[in-house]
Amino acid sequence: MKTFCGRANPTTGAMEWLEEDENYDYHQEIARSRYADMLHDKDRNVKYYHGIRAAVSRVKERGEKAIVLDIGTGTGLLSMMAASAGADFCYAVEVFKPMANAAVKIVEKNGFRDKIKVINKHSTEVTVGPDGDMQCRANILVTELFDTELIGEGALPTYEHAHKYLVQEGCEAVPHRATVYIQLVESKRMWSWNKLFPVHVEAEDGEKIIVSPSEMENCPGVPSVCDIQLNQMPSSDFTILSDVVTMFSVDFSKPVRSASTYYRVQLEPVKSGKAQIVLSWWDIDMDPSGMINCTMAPYWVKSTSAFQWRDHWMQCVYFLPNEEPVLRGEKVYLTACRDEYSLWYKLQKARGEEENKTDIRVESPVCRCQAHLLWNRPRFGELNDQNRTRQYIKSLRKVLKTDSVCLCISDGSLLPVLAHYLGAKQVNMLLFFQFFKANHLEDKIKIIEARPELLTSSHLEDKKISVLVGEPFFTTSLLPWHNLYFWYARTAVTSHLTSNVTVLPQSASLHMMIVEFQDLWRIRSPCGTCEGFDVQTMDDMIKNSLNFRESKEAEPHPLWEYPCKSLSDPQEVLTFDFRKTVPQHCLSTEGSVNLSRKGKSHGAVLWMEYHLAADISVSTGLMQISNEKGNCEWNPHCKQAVYFFSSVIESETLSDLPSAVTYAINFNTKTGEIAMDFKL
Ligand code: SAH
Repeated sequence: MKTFCGRANPTTGAMEWLEEDENYDYHQEIARSRYADMLHDKDRNVKYYHGIRAAVSRVKERGEKAIVLDIGTGTGLLSMMAASAGADFCYAVEVFKPMANAAVKIVEKNGFRDKIKVINKHSTEVTVGPDGDMQCRANILVTELFDTELIGEGALPTYEHAHKYLVQEGCEAVPHRATVYIQLVESKRMWSWNKLFPVHVEAEDGEKIIVSPSEMENCPGVPSVCDIQLNQMPSSDFTILSDVVTMFSVDFSKPVRSASTYYRVQLEPVKSGKAQIVLSWWDIDMDPSGMINCTMAPYWVKSTSAFQWRDHWMQCVYFLPNEEPVLRGEKVYLTACRDEYSLWYKLQKARGEEENKTDIRVESPVCRCQAHLLWNRPRFGELNDQNRTRQYIKSLRKVLKTDSVCLCISDGSLLPVLAHYLGAKQVNMLLFFQFFKANHLEDKIKIIEARPELLTSSHLEDKKISVLVGEPFFTTSLLPWHNLYFWYARTAVTSHLTSNVTVLPQSASLHMMIVEFQDLWRIRSPCGTCEGFDVQTMDDMIKNSLNFRESKEAEPHPLWEYPCKSLSDPQEVLTFDFRKTVPQHCLSTEGSVNLSRKGKSHGAVLWMEYHLAADISVSTGLMQISNEKGNCEWNPHCKQAVYFFSSVIESETLSDLPSAVTYAINFNTKTGEIAMDFKL
C-alpha cells in the first residue's frame, strides 16, 4: 500500500507530497536502529549472559522450574541465552512487529522453537493464565529497556506493570539493579550549549555588546536529555567540582514505582568554582552481589582496560538552571527530580534541611525564554563560538555601507543585530525571532513574518535590498546541504534585490573525504553471530532496509564525538554560487580521490563550507587534520554527512591499495537531493 505524506522539503522549502510505501517508516527505523550497535557490544552481551546463567542456577538450586520473561526481546538474544543456560521456558515479548518477526526466525534457526515463545505485544498488553499469552507468571525477569538516561525508554512503567501482573513475588531479575551516578563540574564549553554569552562587536561608535534577555539567564531550559560521547570531551574542557556520587538506585527484582519523585544528596565540593553542569551515567549489576557490573563511567572514572565503545548507551549532561558559585568544603544539596521518563537537577546551598525540602517541586522544567525552543544545544554552541562570529563581523564590515538595506534569511540568527551595529541603514529579517527586545532593537530591526516567496515590496517599504545575508542556518536542516535552502530563498526574493546586490555568503562548496572510523563503523556493520547465536537474519533485515530506497542515503553524525582518520585529502566536489539564482539543470560531478594513507575505508564524510567574502570562509566540517596519523578535527557544533560504503576496503600496506576511489555526485536542483555513488 502507498500513502502520501506532506512535508516541506528541507532544501528547496517547497511543500511536497511524497508517495511513501507504508513500510517506509519500518525500514527507516530498522536501517537507523541501534540493534547492530547493541549486538556488537561485547561487554554488555557477555555480562548479560553471565547474569542470566547465574539467575537460572539460583532458581534451579531452589528446585523450581525456571520460567523467563524477556521484555523487549529484539532479536531474541537474551531469551536464547536463558534457554541455553537451562531455562525451562521463555516468554519473549517484543512490541515492534518487524523485530518480533525477526525474533521468530532467529529463535527457530538457532533451534529454540520449543523453549521460546515470541509474543508480539507491548508488555502491558500481555495476558497470563491458561488461555493467556503466558501460562503462568515468570520467576526470572530479563530486560534491556534502557537508554542513556536509563529511564527514557519507559523502563520504570514497564517494570512497575511486570511486577504487578507478569512475574512472581521474589523473582530473579537480570539486571538486578541499576545505579545512577553524578559528578558536578564547571565547563565553559558545555555551559555554552545552554546559555548565550555576551557577543562583543567593535562598531564605528564604540563597542556594542549583545546581551541575552534576563529571562534567558534564569530559564531552566528544556527537559530533553543531552546525551553525548563524554569520552570525547578532553579533561581540559571541564573542571571537576565534586567526587562521583551515587544519586539513586533501582532494584529490579522488587516492585518498582514509576510515579514522579526526587532524590537528594549532599555534596562537599572538592574545588571552588561555578557549578554549572551535572554529568551523569549509570551502571547495571547483573546479579545481586554486584560481581557482574556493566558501567557507562567515563574515562577519568574507570580504568581504560574496562573500556567498551558503544553508541546506544552514552553519558548525560544536565544543565543547572543557573550557575551557582560553590566553595571547596562548603556543603551543597543536589536534587534529582524525575517523572516516568526523564530526569532534571537542582542545586541548593546547605541551609536547614527542612527549608530546602519545601522548595522541591517535581514539575519538569519548561523553557520560559523561548531561546531553548529556537536553538538546540549545538546551535547555542555555534552562536557562542567567538571565532565564527569574528569571521561574520569581518565579512559584514567589508560589505555594509551606511545606505545598505539588509535582509537576513536564517533561523534565529544574530546576523541582523551585527548588521545593525555595523552600520546598515535598514535591517529586515525574514522569519520570527524573539530576541531583539532585550537589546532594545525592536524598532531597529524589522521582522517580516513571511515566507521568501511571499515577500512583497510593501514588507520592505518599497526599498530594494542591497545586502542579502544568511549564516546560513535553518532548524529544518538535517544534512549539511539542507542549508542550501538559503539559495532557494535567495532565488525567491530575486525581484526585491538591487542589480548589484551583495550576497553573503557569496557561495558555498561541498567537500568530501574518505575516512577510517575508530568505532562508528560498528553501527552499520553486520554481526553474523553474537555470543554463539546466529543473528544473520537481523543483518539481512538491516541490509534490506538500507537498500529499500534505490539510492543509499548519507546520514548525519556529529563527528567530534566519533574519532576518525582521513585516508584521502579533503576534496571540493561541488560549488553553489549564491550570487546567481538556482539553476534549472542538475549540478553533477565525477572524479576520483587518491587514498594517501593505509587503513580501512569505511566511508566518505561530506560537509559544506561557506565563503562569506573573497578570503573569509567558515567550515561546518573539517577544521584540521591534526597529526601525521590523519586524526581529524571537526566543527563541534555541526553534524557532518556520513556515507558508509557497503563493503570496507582494508589494506595493510599502501601498495595493495586501490590507489583511488571514484565518485559520482549529483545535486538535483528540483528536489534539492544529493545522490552519490562511490566505487573502490
Ligand atoms: N533484548 C534485545 C533488544 C533490546 S532493545 C537485546 O538485548 O539485544 C529493546 C527492545 O525492547 C526494542 O526492540 C523495543 O521495541 C522493545 N520494547 C521496549 N519496551 C517494550 C515493552 N514494554 N514491551 C515490549 N517490547 C518493548
